[in-house]
Amino acid sequence: LAKAGGRNCARLFDPTDPQSSDESENIAALLKIAVERDLVSLVYQPIQDLGSGRFDAVEALMRLKMLDGILVPPSLFIPVAERTGAILELGRWAIRTVCTDMLAHDHVRLVSVNVSPIQLKTPGFATSVAGILGETGVAGSRLAFEITEGRELEMDSDILRCISDLKLLGIRIWLDDFGTGFAGLSWLRLIDFDTVKIDRSFLHDCGTPKGMAMLQDIIALVRNRGHKILVEGVETDEQMALMREFGIDKVQGYHVGRPVPAASFQTKRPVQKRPFTVLKSA
Ligand code: C2E
Ligand code: MG
Ligand code: MG
Ligand code: MG
Repeated sequence: LAKAGGRNCARLFDPTDPQSSDESENIAALLKIAVERDLVSLVYQPIQDLGSGRFDAVEALMRLKMLDGILVPPSLFIPVAERTGAILELGRWAIRTVCTDMLAHDHVRLVSVNVSPIQLKTPGFATSVAGILGETGVAGSRLAFEITEGRELEMDSDILRCISDLKLLGIRIWLDDFGTGFAGLSWLRLIDFDTVKIDRSFLHDCGTPKGMAMLQDIIALVRNRGHKILVEGVETDEQMALMREFGIDKVQGYHVGRPVPAASFQTKRPVQKRPFTVLKSA
């Protein structure tokens, strides 16, 4: 395995490599033991509300390490977990862990959790979420579930019913990576998303007049439909200023803060602005 420079991530497979299916089998095997062997964890990335200026929400992001401690990126293991069904156990584990982490962090008003279409399609999913909320005592209104647009997902009546059951629990439904697939527009007609997250590629392409026009169009489209707007991937002061100018509701990205473990997060101020404090106490 060649390590990808600097990011401590393994380059596990290349889809054009004939050996890649072996690697995918290795990940599948790893996923089977991941929860019991403590190989999965969650990190939390702060989200800033530009209206209030507060950092009172976070997104939970899953991390998987191999037995030697090297991280496998979610872009590799999530598709395998979805294909094998391991996502169901991992997803339940993530929601339960988020809830227990919330109990120790009262100042975090809201945690968003990525949920896979496979979870939404599984009968009893909303009931199992209700069970976790009941056992941990966390209010559903402290959770948002993110559904990614770029996935193949037929928005059938089972999924729509599941989403409305989750809403009855007080859980908000967010649309993730908006603009990366073909389905998002029709989903906006079917589901009343609380917040739409505009994919970071739109921000990163806005250096050209065409890219800027595209970003403004997508913002107008989401806003005119009455959804709150979160822009992902804010990395620079200039991008931050642009977001304020455009009246964006919420921002997320390395400029706001990097994902960190629950034990070290502090959402009242951007995590990334306090690296020395973190280092000193470590
Ligand atoms: P996502 O939900 O769109 O999460 C945002 C991704 O962008 C994260 O990557 C985050 O680390 C990265 N990111 C945040 N700010 C910036 C920035 O300023 N610049 C750049 N270049 N990147 C930024 P990560 O953690 O590798 O996750 C990748 C994807 O894997 C997620 O995309 C999500 O679709 C999926 N994922 C992660 N955790 C879970 C999970 O618990 N369940 C499911 N079903 N999917 C998950
Ligand atoms: Mg997400
Ligand atoms: Mg996503
Ligand atoms: Mg996203």
